[in-house]
Amino acid sequence: MPTSDFDVIAWTLGQQSVNQDCFRGHTGQLELWDRGVLMWQPLQPAGKDIVLSCGIHGNETAPIEIVRDIVHDILRRQHEPLQRVLFIFGNPAAISAGVRELDYNMNRLFSGAHQHGEAPEQRRAAQLEQYVTRFFEHATGGQRERLHYDLHTAIRDSYYEKFAIYPFQHGRPYSKKQLSFLAQCGIHTILLNQAPTTTFSYYSVNTHKAQAFTVELGKVRPFGQNDRSRFADTEGMLRSLLMQSELQLPEFTAEQHQVFAVERVIDRKHQQFQLHFADDVANFTEFPLGYRLASDGAQQHFIEHAGERIIFPNANVAIGQRALLLVREQPLAKLELV
Ligand SMILES: [Zn+2]
Repeated sequence: MPTSDFDVIAWTLGQQSVNQDCFRGHTGQLELWDRGVLMWQPLQPAGKDIVLSCGIHGNETAPIEIVRDIVHDILRRQHEPLQRVLFIFGNPAAISAGVRELDYNMNRLFSGAHQHGEAPEQRRAAQLEQYVTRFFEHATGGQRERLHYDLHTAIRDSYYEKFAIYPFQHGRPYSKKQLSFLAQCGIHTILLNQAPTTTFSYYSVNTHKAQAFTVELGKVRPFGQNDRSRFADTEGMLRSLLMQSELQLPEFTAEQHQVFAVERVIDRKHQQFQLHFADDVANFTEFPLGYRLASDGAQQHFIEHAGERIIFPNANVAIGQRALLLVREQPLAKLELV
């Protein structure tokens, strides 16, 4: 069974043999449901059911290190959560291989998008949906709060280092409490998705009515080369969320938050596709009105509105896939908040 120097990642990814799949702590137990899927069940759980996922993209190491260390502390019987928690290391095969993905971008395979084939990432996405369902639906004890933070790091630099994507809410209001929590995590930039997607966080929003976010913590670096002090706010707040019965958050203030909305999605439609800015341009970079962003066959894409910023550019996506998003800042006052 795991000891203090045990490699949690190797254990959860099935590279290190175990002779039991359940670990008993002082105040609960940790069940290994599958490679990289662990559920902490307190004997007397507080009111939240929390999914903490990382490694949906296998080379996004900082979130994997954060979740690994939280699990490791449980295995050392040091910090046992008061809340029920489902820990997910999303894409074990890609994590082992040190790559973002094997065949598919796994964060485009949820809400049924995995049904088109039997590739490992498609099968895994289907299984993760089942585990999340089992986790949320097997909770007992009345009205419970459902939360899911899907932790990522970006491929490129970002003008705003940390940001969270707030999935499409189908008209439901946005949560002041969640915005305050994210601000305490050091995340003051929020990107609102304006339509359904096939991301993991949207799956939890849409299928399980959870408060769920894709959280981007900074730029991808190899294992062991992350400057953990840059993630200290986030890690500290996640730990507090797990360990405390009810978080004491400061009162909501609009000035803490900067909100952007997705204005346009540019898909690649032709073999001849080119982005007209440097490869290392940061996410959230603003370009002047009229700037030519991309050529797609005979079609040209320009900055059409003042204040438009680019995010997640990738000229190498398959034809039909998203090559670029354009976002624009939106006054918080325009949002319906509860
Ligand atoms: Zn990612």
